[in-house]
Amino acid sequence: MTSGISFVRQNFAVRLRALTSVPHALPHEAPNSWIMRAAAMQGCSHKEFASYLGFDFGHDFDYLYYYAFAKESPYVQEVKALESGRMFFGGKNQRGYRLRGAQGRRGRYRFCSLCLRDDQTPCFHLYCRIEQLVFCPWHRCLLEDWCPHCGKYVELARDMMEPGKGKQGIEDFSWCLMCCQPLHRADPVFVDAQFLNGLPYWLRHWGIKGPEAVKGPGADPSYVAAGRERLLTVKKHRDIASSVGGHLSSSSQPFWMVGNWLAGPATPLSSRPRPEKATDARAHTTGEVT
Ligand SMILES: [Zn+2]
Ligand SMILES: [Zn+2]
Repeated sequence: MTSGISFVRQNFAVRLRALTSVPHALPHEAPNSWIMRAAAMQGCSHKEFASYLGFDFGHDFDYLYYYAFAKESPYVQEVKALESGRMFFGGKNQRGYRLRGAQGRRGRYRFCSLCLRDDQTPCFHLYCRIEQLVFCPWHRCLLEDWCPHCGKYVELARDMMEPGKGKQGIEDFSWCLMCCQPLHRADPVFVDAQFLNGLPYWLRHWGIKGPEAVKGPGADPSYVAAGRERLLTVKKHRDIASSVGGHLSSSSQPFWMVGNWLAGPATPLSSRPRPEKATDARAHTTGEVT
């Protein structure tokens, strides 16, 4: 392993620069997500791409990447944005549990359907792999655990060109790697003050300035599941009320600080530029119409 890693350190930048069409990692993107996209653009498998860069491809590129570049990041522009995820992986002060996939190897990612829908280049964020972090800091909705169509976890264990009949592949990560259906169509469940008030103090305020490090224990999974049920019920009643022209007042008053946060505009932070998506970028080989 050590010789492999020193090879990576010496050759990563040179080998990456030798290629054209290497996508830039996006802020907070998981290394696993970036390497899948990069491999797809080179027309090879992620394992081939990783081994070209010198990685003895084991199980988890998120871990391997920060392990290889534990002391300093490689001086390549294309991977500069991977640094924003470093606080969740590696480093002495890193806390938080990483989600395990069904196969327990590559890990799994939660996702925000609005991030996947609105980002010009949809990707999986590294904070979505941390068990404690249950909501999207940009859209204030609960992160989704499963594909709404096939019910599978997002594990990034297949190449982007693999899924689908005849291997037509997926165009980007807003489509499920398992069933080719749109992950970005999952109905977002927005958190409210009542939900946030039941979280540990640090988590109540997490995400106000964008994704931050884990600072303590997370919410009980059963609390999150019950919260989701309640929020869905509230949403359903609100939809019914608005469909008959009525109005249903919120069942909970905003918590002082969190309330301000919830009431404020869900403006993306400057650290995460989110250019407008081209309208035709959604076309998909299955003929999905948006
Ligand atoms: Zn989001
Ligand atoms: Zn699916």
